Amino acid sequence: MSALESPVVDPEGRTVVLLVEDEPSYLEALNVGLTVEGFVVLAADTIAGARQIFADAAPDLVLLDVMLPDGSGIDFCRELRQSSNVPVIMVTARTDEVDVVLGLEFGAADYVTKPYRLRELVARMRAVLRRHVAAPSDDTTIIGDIRIDATRRTVMRGNEMVELSRKEFDLLNLLAGRLGQVVTRDECLDALWWGQDLADTRTLDTHVKRLRHKIEADPANPVHLVTIRGVGFRLDR
Ligand code: CA
Repeated sequence: MSALESPVVDPEGRTVVLLVEDEPSYLEALNVGLTVEGFVVLAADTIAGARQIFADAAPDLVLLDVMLPDGSGIDFCRELRQSSNVPVIMVTARTDEVDVVLGLEFGAADYVTKPYRLRELVARMRAVLRRHVAAPSDDTTIIGDIRIDATRRTVMRGNEMVELSRKEFDLLNLLAGRLGQVVTRDECLDALWWGQDLADTRTLDTHVKRLRHKIEADPANPVHLVTIRGVGFRLDR
């Protein structure tokens, strides 16, 4: 696997996964399977390759095999933790590794044991990403006269506190975390209503509409919370 020439920013705003795996059969199956599931997959078969891709592409999630040709995935996970809060899912092959991985004291979010089903892995990936969205880093995003404080879960408009429901805040925070990029409807639904049967996906539109009334000067002509027809939404400064 070769390193990338330039940072990957997926134009459709899909989740970018760094897959670090040295078994060709897993590498190929996951590459195909995860792409079908809507992820962008960047693959490396060594830690050195993964390090390069991570620096170039800033992936949203890392799937990390434990036994790699040039070292231990656990050590690489520790290394990632020094500079990034990217969620990491460990992939173990041998039962005797499980004890080590079970502790997850080196900063991994979850683990799976080979052999696993794609469906199980994807469910865990979505759960980890959802938790990550729900507990973002402590930065504040400023959009026009709107100030979003992810840590305090508060939104100010000028000097006024904006009252948002939990879901409205989660949606705004999800979009703010990817400022200027499109977040697909499916990603919004996964992040906010994962695991729930949402019979009517218009619930998402209702939340967007309410948010616009709270943060836009002219909700009928939004300049910050923009709809990308047929794809999703984008938060613009
Ligand atoms: Ca391996």
